[in-house]
Amino acid sequence: MTTPRPAPATTLAFDDAMERVREGGGRITRARRVLLEDLYDVGGRITAEELAERHDDIDLATVYRSLAHFEEVGVVEHVHLGHGPAAYRWSGARTIAAVCDHCGAVTDIPADELDALAARLDDRYGLRLSLGHFALSVHCPACS
Ligand SMILES: [Zn+2]
Ligand SMILES: [Zn+2]
Repeated sequence: MTTPRPAPATTLAFDDAMERVREGGGRITRARRVLLEDLYDVGGRITAEELAERHDDIDLATVYRSLAHFEEVGVVEHVHLGHGPAAYRWSGARTIAAVCDHCGAVTDIPADELDALAARLDDRYGLRLSLGHFALSVHCPACS
């Protein structure tokens, strides 16, 4: 078993996450515990396929079911980085992914960089900017 260490830039502690999963009606199976530890340890984004590849004894369907439950209780979140599969990460990080259209490089930027835009959209159009579900589409410095 890996020892959970503090993941950077997140506010959700591992034990609190376990508690939420338990309270959410999810049994803490060995697979779920292992996957949750993985997501915490990775500290970044990982796809369901990559998670499954790390564990011969956990099939992809179990990974998807577990991730769905983790999302339901708010301990992980997913983002669409481009045309590929959704990537999951530990909840609570206040960063947004910016993905290069050309080379696919992912840069994490602080979410508050977009506060001014969010406020303006809200003021002018009553639109609440929903950040985090889709990545920003950019050209990275190397590709510009
Ligand atoms: Zn690029
Ligand atoms: Zn989605």
